[in-house]
Amino acid sequence: MGKVTGFLEFERLEEGYEPVEKRVKNYKEFVIGLSAEEAKVQGARCMDCGTPFCNNGCPVNNIIPDFNDLVFQGDWKNAVQVLHSTNNFPDFTGRVCPAPCEAACVLNINNDAVGIKSIEHSIIDRAWAEGWVQPQPAKVKTGKKVAIVGSGPAGMAAAQQLARVGHDVTVFEKNDTIGGLLRFGIPDFKFDKSHIDRRVQQMEAEGVVFKTNTIVGELPKSGAAAKVTNWAQTTVTPEQLQKDFDAVILTGGSEQSRDLPVPGRDLAGIHFAMEFLPQQNRVNAGGKVKEQIRADGKHVIVIGGGDTGSDCVGTSNRHGAKSVVQFEVMPQPPEEENKELTWPYWPIKLRTSSSHEEGCEREFAIATKEFIGEAGKVTGVKTVRVEFKNGKFEEVAGSEQTLKADLVLLAMGFTNPVDTLLQGFGVEKDARGNAKAGTDADTGYKTNVAKVFAAGDVRRGQSLVVWAIREGRQAAREVDAFLMGASTLPR
Ligand SMILES: Cc1cc2nc3c(=O)[nH]c(=O)nc-3n(C[C@H](O)[C@H](O)[C@H](O)COP(=O)(O)OP(=O)(O)OC[C@H]3O[C@@H](n4cnc5c(N)ncnc54)[C@H](O)[C@@H]3O)c2cc1C
Ligand code: SF4
Repeated sequence: MGKVTGFLEFERLEEGYEPVEKRVKNYKEFVIGLSAEEAKVQGARCMDCGTPFCNNGCPVNNIIPDFNDLVFQGDWKNAVQVLHSTNNFPDFTGRVCPAPCEAACVLNINNDAVGIKSIEHSIIDRAWAEGWVQPQPAKVKTGKKVAIVGSGPAGMAAAQQLARVGHDVTVFEKNDTIGGLLRFGIPDFKFDKSHIDRRVQQMEAEGVVFKTNTIVGELPKSGAAAKVTNWAQTTVTPEQLQKDFDAVILTGGSEQSRDLPVPGRDLAGIHFAMEFLPQQNRVNAGGKVKEQIRADGKHVIVIGGGDTGSDCVGTSNRHGAKSVVQFEVMPQPPEEENKELTWPYWPIKLRTSSSHEEGCEREFAIATKEFIGEAGKVTGVKTVRVEFKNGKFEEVAGSEQTLKADLVLLAMGFTNPVDTLLQGFGVEKDARGNAKAGTDADTGYKTNVAKVFAAGDVRRGQSLVVWAIREGRQAAREVDAFLMGASTLPR
């Protein structure tokens, strides 16, 4: 334990942000990480609890008290080793993880949690700056070949783990660059893509082969699934993959956006968030987009109160929208949780993101009845207030309203993986339409199809980067054990 009385002496320190007026002029990351001295003080607040709930709250089970202590001692090199022992990409999670570990921190019961995520961020940025993050190629090759379908955080974590124990790993990605939703969903101002690029370089040096612009199977020709990002120029059939490789891991994500089939849905100017957001990331990367969906000078309505919606808010403000309104069907949650009821779990409370702070009106308990238009283009949204009663939403009589809208972005989450990916392999689905595969010792990420495994959002449904990393790591262990009879990879 760092400083025995640290939690009594020091306050929680938040990472800084560039001022709003500066950051909305560009798409650059704007979080100012803790200095080495500030991180040390944060580390000193850790109580090294006998039962560290934070370690269980973290989906990759980061060994948080140990790296907190190492940072307090100034032993950054060992801190990054501890961090990497459970998490392949703390540079990703140190930026975009919502930090369920902090909700579970024991200090959070009657004080402010230790700033665990900010310490993680400091450790990994220091490690990259010092040159401590190096490729770890396997000393002995096994001659076994593994195909990974999808290059999001689940696919990347699985690929890195398997390459490091000597397997020949090939990652197939239908888009033109690696990273999944980290690359094309999460905006650059939250997560700069150079963090993925240097991991790809590291993994290539470890022997991973990336095949971009290559789709495995095919997408439907119409409907919401036909609109997922796809720049494939080459198609590989599932049969070919099963013939050429000793094992296949499906990590294709949960890409099918939830639609809102109300009257007027076909009007121009209504788009899925995942049509809008990838275009801006592509433009930022120097790519060309034909007729980019832009929010400049427009009244924008974002339907969906979650993270994806908030990313649409931030991007619309950077475009120069005239107004931005975000709808959430659920009632406004309390500003503070009742910790006695919620700790150590993730509490439902009002969360105001950095994008909200940049300018956004938030409407709660509101539903969309109809899109109104003129000459084929959306001009407004007809809404009604709703109350959640007896397990369902009921409209509040007389509460209809029409709001102006020139651009509507649908950010209501994702229903399931694109059907054809699973059908191509003959993989059974669970009740929610995800790939059916368990995670315990017997079921070990295995689908019903011989030598085909599934991990990440494709298996658990839409989730978080840190869960995708966990599943990729665990699936890699199962595949290694399947190929070799036993595995030295951690679970
Ligand atoms: C806008 C947005 C913001 C988000 N913000 C956050 C956040 O701040 N923090 C957080 O923790 N999580 C966030 N998430 C969720 C997080 O990004 C996902 O949970 C995570 O990326 C899932 O990882 P994955 O590897 O399972 O799948 P994905 O990241 O979805 O990657 C799947 C990849 O597989 C590829 N693929 C699919 N089918 C095929 C095929 N047949 N052939 C070849 N390639 C294929 C896809 O093109 C894609 O690149 C956000 C999601 C969105 C949409
Ligand atoms: S990965 Fe997320 S939950 Fe785990 S320690 Fe880091 S911020 Fe916390």
